[in-house]
Parts: sequence; structure tokens; C-alpha cells
Amino acid sequence: MQHHNPSDVLIIGAGISGLMAATKLKESGSSVTVLDKGRNHGGRMATRTFDGAIFDHGAQFFTVRQPIFQTYVEQWSAADIIKIWFESECNQSKKHPRWVAHQGMNSLPKHIAKNLDVYLSKEVIKLSYNHQKWTAFCQDGTDYSGIHLLITTPTPQTTRLLETTHFPLPSNMQHALQNIRYEKGLSILLRLNDPSGLPEPGGIKYDHPKISWIADNQMKGISNLPALTIHTTSDFATATWKYTHDEKIELILDEIKSLMTLSIKGAQTHRWGYTLPINPNKEKSLTSPDLHLTLAGDAFGGPRVEGSACSGLHAAKQITLAI
Ligand SMILES: Cc1cc2nc3c(=O)[nH]c(=O)nc-3n(C[C@H](O)[C@H](O)[C@H](O)COP(=O)(O)OP(=O)(O)OC[C@H]3O[C@@H](n4cnc5c(N)ncnc54)[C@H](O)[C@@H]3O)c2cc1C
Repeated sequence: MQHHNPSDVLIIGAGISGLMAATKLKESGSSVTVLDKGRNHGGRMATRTFDGAIFDHGAQFFTVRQPIFQTYVEQWSAADIIKIWFESECNQSKKHPRWVAHQGMNSLPKHIAKNLDVYLSKEVIKLSYNHQKWTAFCQDGTDYSGIHLLITTPTPQTTRLLETTHFPLPSNMQHALQNIRYEKGLSILLRLNDPSGLPEPGGIKYDHPKISWIADNQMKGISNLPALTIHTTSDFATATWKYTHDEKIELILDEIKSLMTLSIKGAQTHRWGYTLPINPNKEKSLTSPDLHLTLAGDAFGGPRVEGSACSGLHAAKQITLAI
């Protein structure tokens, strides 16, 4: 078993919330270690390559409403990491641009992680808190420790991790962990022989019982080859959760026929156990100064990329006060 010196802050989850928290904590002078079970940074800001084409199969774009997030968005735009995909009228006077990353949504978290100590393929399976120090034990036999622990995983995963410590949590944390619920999701990725023919800008939201969104990754500018991402409704994802890959594709292709004509070269599916929290917590993060424990992520900041990022920033502020 390997041992690492304890960091000031140990973060579980290298999604946007964990990475924003790590960035802010590092700026404040704390030493930070981030662990993620995935092979890539970014969690639900996910991008996949298949048959030469590039697909965003998690978050499709993000919007900006909060000034604190705007500051970072301006930096990423100046560094040429992100661009505006399209703008849509939200009301008469105000437009909210839809931001995307030039090389797929996943390239933004990758960029943020560049100057951070992030360890990938580290699935935390057990936690312990002894002598004012948290230790995270990983599936591969390694362990990492920190004085303060920040967990940014979806709340059902957070619950499972904290259950391994066998000690009671403060009531506000218990309440949040017991009550926040997530929607399930299903992404269908279609590698096309020809351009899709979707109208500009190449992303359509549907009010349909099975399909909620279709995006053309080529028109979005991330794929050189024709590539469609289809998101199903949460109801459809739940109803077909145990169906085979082929059964799901067949059902969705049946629906697509009535919406557009496509020439398909190959297809993949991806199930999402957690897309968006249905009833996020009102507070942007929860900290127990006694336990040196903070919970954050989209369950706290509100659904979506911006909410998660702001939750991470909020958590960093609370942790700086607590350590
Ligand atoms: C299909 C889909 C479409 C979406 N569309 C949009 C959209 O268009 N716009 C938008 O703004 N938002 C969208 N969202 C929501 C958005 O992606 C999320 O709200 C946001 O990315 C969540 O970030 P996070 O850091 O809170 O969590 P996550 O990104 O989930 O990060 C948590 C991380 O924890 C890691 N982890 C979990 N358990 C462990 C463990 N035991 N050990 C180590 N690591 C662990 C995971 O690997 C993950 O990387 C979408 C989400 C999905 C799934």
C-alpha cells in the first residue's frame, strides 16, 4: 500500500465542481490533491471519439448567469479554450450565449486540471477519519490523505462513501444526502455517412416523449466527421435501463425516422445514472468545520455546469475559513 503526505485538502471528483474548488484553494495557498475514478477529467462534461468522429455525450453546452463564473469564462475564452456555439433569446432583452469547448466539452476540465495535482483511475472505495486526518482508500490499493475532505460526487455516491466511515453526520448533511434525487439519462451516438442536414446551429431541443435533444457535433465544430448525439428523456432512459445496446438503438432509430432521414455507419450508447439533480439543495455547499468535511457538486449549486462550478467555488471559500 502506497502512502502520500497529507494535503491540506483532499477532493474526491475531478468534475467541474472539484476542479474549480481545487483551483480556488490552490490560489489561496492550500495544497490540494484531487482523485477521480474516471480515465479522464471532467465527469459529466464528457467527450468520446469513435470511428474517427468526436462526440460530446454528456453536457452539451453551458450558460453563464453569475458574475463569479463569468470571470472564469472570460479567461477560458481569452485562452481560446471555449467559444460561443449559439445564442438564444431567453426573454425580450437578454441573451444567454451557449458556450462550448473548441475540442469537445471535456477539453475545458482538462485545461483547468493542467496545473493541479489530479490522480485519475483512482476509485475511492473507503474513507476513514482519524487523528484529524481523512484517508481515502482506492480500489487499486493506494491511499491518499488530507486534513479537510471535499466530496463532489453525485449524492448517492457520496452517501455510499460516507457510510464506510460509520460515524454520524451533521443533520443538514444527512438531510441533503437522503433527499436529493437525480434523473437518469441515455445518450445515443450515431456516426453518420453524410452530414446530418440539421438546421443551423445544429442543436435541437425536443418536446417529445422519448427524445429530448439532438446535436450535430460536426456543425458544433468539434468533429471533422458527421456525428450525432441524441439524448433521450429521463423516462425513456429509466424504462429501458436494462435493455441491450441493440434494443435501445432500435427503439430510438424508430423514433428518429419520423424526425429526419439519416445514413448511419455505426452507433454507441452510454447510460447515465445521474444527469441532473431534480431537487438540488438551496445552499451551494455544506461544510462541517468539526469534521473537516465539505459536500459540493451540482446537487448543491443547482443543476448544470455553471451551478456545479459555483458550488465548487463556494466550497473552496468555506474550506478556507474552516482550515
Ligand atoms: C447527459 C447529460 C447532459 C447534460 N447536459 C448539460 C448541458 O447541456 N448543460 C449543462 O450546463 N449541464 C448539463 N449536464 C449537467 C452537467 O454535466 C453536470 O451538472 C456537471 O457537469 C456536474 O459536475 P460535478 O463536478 O458536480 O459532477 P461530475 O461531473 O459528476 O463529477 C463527479 C466526479 O466524481 C467522480 N467519482 C464518482 N465516484 C467516485 C469515487 N468513488 N472515487 C473517485 N471518483 C469518483 C466521477 O468519476 C466524476 O468525474 C448534463 C449532464 C448529463 C449527464
